[in-house]
Amino acid sequence: MGDNFTLDLPDEAATLQFAAALAGAMRAKLNIYLHGDLGAGKTTLVRGLLHALGHVGKVKSPTYSLMEAYEVNANNHFKFNLYHFDLYRFNDDEEWESAGFRDYFNAENVCVIEWPEKAQNLLPRPDLDITFDIKMLGGSLGRRITVTAHTILGKQCLQAISIEK
Ligand code: ADP
Ligand code: MG
Repeated sequence: MGDNFTLDLPDEAATLQFAAALAGAMRAKLNIYLHGDLGAGKTTLVRGLLHALGHVGKVKSPTYSLMEAYEVNANNHFKFNLYHFDLYRFNDDEEWESAGFRDYFNAENVCVIEWPEKAQNLLPRPDLDITFDIKMLGGSLGRRITVTAHTILGKQCLQAISIEK
């Protein structure tokens, strides 16, 4: 297989199921950037991912806080921090530095970012990009996602997802 694939998600349950497959395929600490319009399903995916990684309780959209931090477990062993960003309202590059966001991007953490376009000059290259398109699928409005790997770790995850899904 290549460095990307496309998958149709007919309803929210399918998005959550894909999120669980992604969680199962995360053997390394990846940076994952989510693209798509408001309401496309980015936060839904993060919620599914966090729950599949053992987070119990709410996942609130970090639209105002810009970032929410979680401590999770992959396959019930290795513990790590997952930082969920929503940069829709981000518009001040200096805030990036003063909030210390740069420090979150290292090999120890997972960062998942909605609206990475808003801080594109500040962000490192992602391991995976996931793009959501709202689309008619079999008579109802679903989502088509494209998952693209940009690094070796991203490619390994992509391959593992395609086995799981
Ligand atoms: P975003 O974070 O991209 O703005 P949200 O995840 O907050 O979007 O909202 C997405 C909305 O679309 C939710 O109401 C969710 O129930 C719905 N949704 C998620 N995935 C799908 C899907 N595959 N098909 C149809 N609706 C979906
Ligand atoms: Mg959102």
